Amino acid sequence: MLMKKYIVTLWAVALMLLTAACGGSGSRSAKRLAVSIEPQRYLLEHIAGDRWEVVTLLEKGSDPENFDPTVSLLRSVSEADAYFIVGTMDFEKSVAGRLSSGNPDIKIVDTSKGIELLTGTHSHRGSDGSVHTHTVADPHTWSSLPNAIVMATNMCDALVEIDPDNAGIYRANCDTLVAQLEAVHRDITAELVQSPHRRFLIWHPSLSYFARDYSLEQISLGDTNRELSPLTFKNNIDIASNADSIVMFTQTDYDYNRSDAVARQARARTVEINQLDYDFVSGLQTIAKEIAR
Ligand SMILES: [Zn+2]
Repeated sequence: MLMKKYIVTLWAVALMLLTAACGGSGSRSAKRLAVSIEPQRYLLEHIAGDRWEVVTLLEKGSDPENFDPTVSLLRSVSEADAYFIVGTMDFEKSVAGRLSSGNPDIKIVDTSKGIELLTGTHSHRGSDGSVHTHTVADPHTWSSLPNAIVMATNMCDALVEIDPDNAGIYRANCDTLVAQLEAVHRDITAELVQSPHRRFLIWHPSLSYFARDYSLEQISLGDTNRELSPLTFKNNIDIASNADSIVMFTQTDYDYNRSDAVARQARARTVEINQLDYDFVSGLQTIAKEIAR
């Protein structure tokens, strides 16, 4: 009887200790960081390891160029210690403002800091419906491995500031990640240098930085996500046929009609890509292989 009482007391003490240990760091069980898109989560998880939970704002299948997060999603992101923005996407400014007003302590980190942005390669639809091209920075920065290295370094610096106790771990993880990205960049450079193919067709111009990195020519057939007029459709076939390109990339998140028909007329292979996939590094390797093939 006495023994049983003793065991029960031991259990109570153990439970108390456990509760105290968990409750010490606040009410949340895991510390949270937020990012805009899945490729950023790839980079940040490689640096942060399992010390942090990383949540992505842009839901699967959402169009990043017409995105408005739901209230429940915003609430989950607002509990983060930091929100890492791509720095070039329209929705980020308003989201960052709404997060900061709900949680003044949240740190907003612009991961595009130090990236040489391209202009004139991508259109942007204003709230009044008008389309601008030349003054707007091309938002698809992560289609470049050198850009991704800058993004990773910015993430690492911010994380070290937020959690200096684990700075050594974050720096070591970041060094490993940067070495991996550099190796892939070297491989792609070597692969494309030997390739006689220097042009590729694409519907939405989301590979401008990739084309710049490897001196390729991106021939974009459409920009904003709209139905094509018969005249535009015919022009596209002419452009594609004259481009002498062997491959045309189509994108899951932009459901353009009749892109297969254009590719067939131009005698180009269609290859579906999704730039918003988590493992965007493998995605870039696939794109390089398809161009060089
Ligand atoms: Zn775009």
